[in-house]
Amino acid sequence: MTSPYQGYVYAYPHKTAYRPLDPAPPLRSVWAEEDKSALFLYLHVPFCEMRCGFCNLFTRTGASEDLTSAYLSALSRQADAVTDALGDASFAMAAFGGGTPTYLNAAELDRLCDIASRFAPLGSAPPGSAPLGVETSPATATPDRLRVLRDRGTTRISIGVQSFVDAEARAAVRPQKRAEVDTALDAIRDAAIPVLNIDLIYGIAGQTAESWAYSLETALRWKPEEIYLYPLYKRPLTGLFRLGRDWDDHRLALYRQGRDHLLAAGYEQVSMRMFRLPSGGVGGTGAGGTEYCCQSDGMIGLGCGARSYTSDLHYSFEYAVGATEVRAIIDDYVRADDFTTARVGFRLDEDERRRRHLLQSLLQASGLDRAAYRARFGSDAMDDFPDDLKGFADRGWLDVGPDALRLTSEGLAYSDAIGPALFSGSVRALMDAYEAR
Ligand code: SF4
Repeated sequence: MTSPYQGYVYAYPHKTAYRPLDPAPPLRSVWAEEDKSALFLYLHVPFCEMRCGFCNLFTRTGASEDLTSAYLSALSRQADAVTDALGDASFAMAAFGGGTPTYLNAAELDRLCDIASRFAPLGSAPPGSAPLGVETSPATATPDRLRVLRDRGTTRISIGVQSFVDAEARAAVRPQKRAEVDTALDAIRDAAIPVLNIDLIYGIAGQTAESWAYSLETALRWKPEEIYLYPLYKRPLTGLFRLGRDWDDHRLALYRQGRDHLLAAGYEQVSMRMFRLPSGGVGGTGAGGTEYCCQSDGMIGLGCGARSYTSDLHYSFEYAVGATEVRAIIDDYVRADDFTTARVGFRLDEDERRRRHLLQSLLQASGLDRAAYRARFGSDAMDDFPDDLKGFADRGWLDVGPDALRLTSEGLAYSDAIGPALFSGSVRALMDAYEAR
């Protein structure tokens, strides 16, 4: 029996499949022939107050104000090089992610908004502005920071709460106080940023159906426009979960409970993890939020942990998760003065582009639009990936309709098995080689 928890595919290919580009192509030529009418701008802030036990993101703790200031200066130099290479471009969405962007203080966040505003006006108006999403944490979602973010056009704020039970937060190695979480959520609502997203985690040691229901119900008190439910991937060290199967069953039961709880509360399911109120709001990821299409549109990432996408090249800086390597990469970034080339990346051939489109579409509840796929690639997805897709259908994970390929309810529950199963052999080999280093 396949474990439903093989891996979270939030981007394809994963950065562990990127390799140094030699020679490093100039950004000007990388972007010359690209459609730049609806880009996504992403600024990465690789700093956090503490390292959560479940985190595998590119971030470091304990950054001094000297370092955050130097990092912003490097971002500004990179923005100079990128705006120069892009020429005319329009942005459909912008986001500050991390790490924890609100690790920066209010004045630094203002500086960060200045840098982003050089690409596009931020906010939901006037036309041509890019709605801005920002990630935050309970300790750093303070009124002064939120005021700056709201005044500079933030339309969506996402906060990692994980659990409203202090003991569970501690067990997930995110020691936070419930009172701090409540204060942060009140402050976000007071700031009147249109869309609030709350992240919760299931599968934590000691979490029960009752405590999970309590966290879900408590989150709903703030009427968040969006809620993400994440399965925990770091194994709890308790006797109960010594066997992988037990933990899988536990997570699957909590997933189903969480999904049903939110559907009963009026949320719609967008993907295995994402739920939103049908009126998602301006600047959310709902219909009113953006025209950006993650399957085909490009992305400009600034910062040493951010990636950028063109139609056939994904690129970034060096990748690491270990504390020493992350610090070294950040130190190199703040000293760099040449941002005119793409240094590390992955070139997507025709097969990889089809695979990426399939993955990005199939893992959404709305599924893959067969006509859109045909219009883009000149073939039918069922003919391009017959074995994988028929295999999913045979397992009851996929509905093959004349217009769309859509995961069933059970298929959505197995998204983290379906995604990795669609990796190409060459991407899998590059990822395995990276892990084996
Ligand atoms: S706050 Fe987010 S990025 Fe920072 S350590 Fe925790 S999970 Fe990782």
